[in-house]
Amino acid sequence: MVYKADLKQVCGCGITVEAKSTDELVSKVKDHAANMHNIKQVPPELADKLMKAIKQE
Ligand SMILES: [Zn+2]
Repeated sequence: MVYKADLKQVCGCGITVEAKSTDELVSKVKDHAANMHNIKQVPPELADKLMKAIKQE
């Protein structure tokens, strides 16, 4: 099982993040937010968008 999140729906970036679990995916997106957007504390609104963007394959 692979979990994917299209970041276009989350922060507007044209990349898809993949991970083996939702926890791993969330942590990867948090790293992306910190590195690319300088967001150190993910706001609830963004976390909500992320949860909606996650798809299982
Ligand atoms: Zn981004």
